[in-house]
Amino acid sequence: MATSGWWSDHNGSVQAHDIINPTTAQRIATIQPTTLDDADRAIQAASAAQPAWASLAPGDRARLLRRFADLVETHLDELAALEVANAGHTTSNARWEAGNVRDLLEYAAGGIERLSGRQIPVAGGLDLTFREPLGVVGIIVPWNFPMPIAAWGFAPALAAGNTVLLKPAEWTPLTALRLAELALTAGIPEGVFTVLPGDGPVVGHRFATHPLIAKVCFTGSTAVGAHLMATCATQMKRITLELGGKSANIIFADTDLDEVAAAAPGGVFDNSGQDCCARSRILVHDSVFEGFMERFEGAVRSVVVGDPSDPTTMMGPLIAERHRSRVLSYLDGVDVAFAGTAPDGPGFYVPPTVVLPKTNEDRIVQEEVFGPVVTVQRFSTEAEAIALANSTPYGLSGSIWTENLSRAIRVARAVTSGNLSVNSHSSVRYWTPFGGFKGSGIGRELGPEALEQFTEVKNVFISTREG
Ligand code: NAD
Repeated sequence: MATSGWWSDHNGSVQAHDIINPTTAQRIATIQPTTLDDADRAIQAASAAQPAWASLAPGDRARLLRRFADLVETHLDELAALEVANAGHTTSNARWEAGNVRDLLEYAAGGIERLSGRQIPVAGGLDLTFREPLGVVGIIVPWNFPMPIAAWGFAPALAAGNTVLLKPAEWTPLTALRLAELALTAGIPEGVFTVLPGDGPVVGHRFATHPLIAKVCFTGSTAVGAHLMATCATQMKRITLELGGKSANIIFADTDLDEVAAAAPGGVFDNSGQDCCARSRILVHDSVFEGFMERFEGAVRSVVVGDPSDPTTMMGPLIAERHRSRVLSYLDGVDVAFAGTAPDGPGFYVPPTVVLPKTNEDRIVQEEVFGPVVTVQRFSTEAEAIALANSTPYGLSGSIWTENLSRAIRVARAVTSGNLSVNSHSSVRYWTPFGGFKGSGIGRELGPEALEQFTEVKNVFISTREG
């Protein structure tokens, strides 16, 4: 990212985006990015379409979203194949991701008839609250999980009666564009759900400055998120930020080392480590350190890295050569304990790599690498494990491995992260809330309150005076 000038509105010429398959390094599409004028026209159209969308009978809006979900299901193989080609995701991951879009649409559709207000006791009348839609919602998506992160925003936003503009990441627009076509085929009216491929500083920035956008949902880097938050503040615009992570995988002595070592690669190397929830810092109790490392080495060396469309592949390439260079820059001068293997190319591969940091202040411990790289550190007490876990600017996710339930709960409550798992690496379920503490973001997505995040509460008092 350039360090100056990238935040300002500009309407200069936008260059076509070549979409590259990260497995072959070959161009698979060329996308003409949305200009500022086109973005403004789309925002106007979304605003014009919103009142009719919001005033549809709840059951009718729900039916349209279910039809959209059905079409995602019948096109699941196609969407997954598109993501394998565009983002280098393994086929099984990409199929899960398309299925997640379907599930999110169904879950959100089920909430529409339940999005009710309250009747609150007052003297002299009747007091009612309404959950009003916000208007137009702008969603800005990163390249690491193009389908799920898009749907975390658009499914509840649409269900709550908002219209949506979605800007996919420059490198990965293909599934979002296909989803927009499926939405139209499902009968969702023009202007209700529009995908605007384009440059972050042009289209994404416009979401933050345009007065007709009521809320911005941003997932991406902390630097861009902070800038967008400041921009939105000038208009009191609502914003949700899902940012980076540097999550700890805390391994106590009273755990099954075979199980924990076998699970650890999946906790950090899934999606080639390009996962905001990656457990990229392993913290191991002193007394089991050697035993864990021995088992972990075997598990890391058996991670199959290669063509993501091969069903035996566990980890594909990184998204782009530029990103690969950035990830490799973190390995300069560090002590690598061991690494797995990866093909030489032409794809943008990095082998799964395990690093022993010199200090907790090392760049590789404190910064999000967003690649298949993990550090391993020791601790001797529960308090030290908690202090290490909390020692980065981030607070998104994390795992705790122990058979001691009291300790599991103590540590889960003490770690300043939004999503913790005990004896598991799972973080994301569409029906449970997700979001970060500290530098990992603001606001929550998913879960039972997902639709409410896209509404304002309105209070109406009706006097029952006589005459
Ligand atoms: P990024 O911030 O560079 O880009 C994310 C999106 O923002 C892209 O669509 C991009 O075009 C857009 N953008 C860029 N500059 C912009 C600007 N000035 N104004 C408006 N929009 C702009 O991040 P990235 O490299 O694409 O994604 C990786 C980051 O995303 C990582 O830090 C990762 O942790 C984070 N992430 C977080 C979560 C979460 O839920 N917390 C999930 C996935 C990824």
